[in-house]
Amino acid sequence: MARRAVFLDRDGTLVEEAGYLDRLERLVFFPYSVDAVRLLNRADLAVVIVTNQAGIARGIFKETFVAEAHRHIRERLAAGGARIDAFYYCPHHPEAAIEAYRQSCDCRKPQPGLLKRAAADLGLDLSQSFVVGDRWHDLEAGHRVGARGVLVRTGYGKTEEATPQPRLVPSAIVNNVMEAVSWILRES
Ligand SMILES: [Mg+2]
Ligand SMILES: [Zn+2]
Repeated sequence: MARRAVFLDRDGTLVEEAGYLDRLERLVFFPYSVDAVRLLNRADLAVVIVTNQAGIARGIFKETFVAEAHRHIRERLAAGGARIDAFYYCPHHPEAAIEAYRQSCDCRKPQPGLLKRAAADLGLDLSQSFVVGDRWHDLEAGHRVGARGVLVRTGYGKTEEATPQPRLVPSAIVNNVMEAVSWILRES
């Protein structure tokens, strides 16, 4: 049977929004992030990070740095008994400085390519899954594959909340990822 998942945006949702996060010192967890992921693990929901990393396309940092940042996140979570099942990122941008990454891809949110790739790799049921993010484009990616969306007010979330998207009604708007997890565990 296909597994349900919670797709978490990274910057502004799991960790603080830092503009282009290009140094590990700028990777700051919210105080409740580890607990939130551990609660999802206990509920046997797959936890998948999906993140746009156009800083790669813009030449601000390399893919090796993204790998290092994700290793750091894994270690930090593991120390608190929590685990991410998989990380997916989009390195592209249509106007990238670096030609190799210059494309209108199908994986840059709001495109749902990363969610579809995760579903194929991990055997996920997208229609029974959730997306948690601080930007409308996070929820749009989920909407396109039939997943429910939760907007958090951390990161850009408050600004996004102030500009509602008529076609994109979130299932919930909450203060942060811990509240999002509480909501999801009540719903699922
Ligand atoms: Mg974000
Ligand atoms: Zn992409």
